[in-house]
Amino acid sequence: MKIFTKSALVALLVVFCSFSVQAQKISLQRVDPPSWWVGMHDPHLQLLVFGHEISKTQPVINYPGVVLESVTHVESPDYLFLNLIIKKDAQPGTMEIHFKEGKKDKAVYAYALNKRNLNPKLHDGFNNSDVIYLLMPDRFSNGDPSNDNMPGMLEQANRKDPNGRHGGDIQGIINHLQYIKDLGATTIWPTPLMEDNMPRTSYHGYAITDYYKVDPRYGTNQLYKKMVEDAHKMGLKVIQDMVVNHCGTDYFWKNDLPTHDWYNQWPKFTRSNFHGSVVSDPHASKSDYKQMVGGWFDTSMADLNQNNPLVANYLIQNSIWWVEYAGLDGIRQDTYPYSYKKFLAHWMERLLEEYPHIKVVGETWFDQPATVAYWQQNKRNYDGYQSHLTNAMDFPLCFAMRQAFNEPNGWTTGLARLYDVLAQDFVYSHPDHLLVFADNHDMTRLFTDLKGNLNSWKMTMAFLLTTRGIPEIYYGDEILMKGDKADGDGVTRKDFPGGWAGDSLNAFTPQGRTVEQNDAFNFLRTILNWRKTNKAVQFGKLTQYIVEDGVYVYFRAYKGQKVMVMINNNKEAKTVDMSRFADDLKGFTKGKSVTTSEVINQLNSITIPAYSPLIVELEK
Ligand code: CA
Repeated sequence: MKIFTKSALVALLVVFCSFSVQAQKISLQRVDPPSWWVGMHDPHLQLLVFGHEISKTQPVINYPGVVLESVTHVESPDYLFLNLIIKKDAQPGTMEIHFKEGKKDKAVYAYALNKRNLNPKLHDGFNNSDVIYLLMPDRFSNGDPSNDNMPGMLEQANRKDPNGRHGGDIQGIINHLQYIKDLGATTIWPTPLMEDNMPRTSYHGYAITDYYKVDPRYGTNQLYKKMVEDAHKMGLKVIQDMVVNHCGTDYFWKNDLPTHDWYNQWPKFTRSNFHGSVVSDPHASKSDYKQMVGGWFDTSMADLNQNNPLVANYLIQNSIWWVEYAGLDGIRQDTYPYSYKKFLAHWMERLLEEYPHIKVVGETWFDQPATVAYWQQNKRNYDGYQSHLTNAMDFPLCFAMRQAFNEPNGWTTGLARLYDVLAQDFVYSHPDHLLVFADNHDMTRLFTDLKGNLNSWKMTMAFLLTTRGIPEIYYGDEILMKGDKADGDGVTRKDFPGGWAGDSLNAFTPQGRTVEQNDAFNFLRTILNWRKTNKAVQFGKLTQYIVEDGVYVYFRAYKGQKVMVMINNNKEAKTVDMSRFADDLKGFTKGKSVTTSEVINQLNSITIPAYSPLIVELEK
């Protein structure tokens, strides 16, 4: 067999392509995934090929190390699914796929098989030493006004509309990586950056219309990859927000589904009942379950049927494609219990097979710890379900935080809520692996919920960043941004002041923040940067003492290192007799306040001001 040089091969391809244009009766509109890699753990690759009556052709591949094992035909004549094996000895290069009718090529596709980036530091996941900064790309910063409106995109930028597109983008994130790093977060989680070409409220990005393409209003795939690389150079990690439950109803296949069951179909539009606990409920009715998982999230979001193995493969390969392409550290998976749970377990297995250290956090939005626990990796469930999900979200603790600092202390109210939620940690296989948060993009802003009370906000943040779990903060928390969900989602996702050229204030700088905002920002930055250095607060065993007299005290201990946190949720200062905590104070004689650097010379009795947290690094 003749060996072509690279340039000869390119020339040959040009000849092939131009030939195929002349003779071609079929134009290939899509091949997904658009590229792949040699040397993946799993040798299988399933290509979705879309083109008018492509199923009438016979695909042929002659590429060393690649076997076209079988071809799957579906109901629509416009699709073929090619089942390939990429053997270990396959080399990177351009693989031609010939779609033949008899001896004639009806189409030729040049498919890229790339070389993997085998840097061992990639895909290492996040852990308890990390703090995640959640941001909405459309609302964080507009680094490139030239992409605010792009040809072919249905929704135009309109900053005056709270639910419209505002023009924020990937360049805006890149421009502020240093800001996030200085604040003390270690990991960024941007809400989805994939194309969402729906006509309305597309800024949130959860109605994806192309799983393989960054929305051009955010930038390009290449720029996204650069953002991850830039973040890595600065020691920051990146989590990609993914959505396998549904796609935007305007996805390319909308008028020509490969199979009728590609979506969960109903005689008339049927929403999910949004009651996620149905999925793990031993007493659930079949109809409730069917509607929970098979109902649509929204008219703009088509519910994908992952029980169809072709759909499942499409989604799994897409997730792997992004991890490999962009070099991701982790994934956040949207609306977790809304996808079929058998598929979710398989999706996780496939990801962990390729990337054993990657971390995936599922949006497990439940009120009760037991329901969250059902979804956690290694949980022993009554029905034998094993999710393999490495990280779940601690919504119960979030809800407890929002009440705890917002009401008087009682036997089961105020601070007791925090104690009581954590007291249920026995239901979790790994309580430390929970993502803990007080705010996110789907809720009334924390500072609004706390009635604009800075003391309550400081107590919340101090607790969030010192309790067990991996903390997440929501962009704008650090400058006390407000917004009530009752006024619409857009209001809880306002533009970060200073993110747009011409903004009257730039809250990315101290000069652009009010005195109160700087107080909050500095408080948060101090704790976050200290947190980076303290193993006890990251990984330490938690011991909590029952709340007495409106004061909550707990310790984090790690190999002789110990942190004590005291929270006084009273309108007056409290002097606390410390003898109750003797077990944990044993061996320590003094300490230092993390937020004020004040030295505490004795541990017999400590006075805490009204509505305040005190974080103490204990010393011998
Ligand atoms: Ca822009």
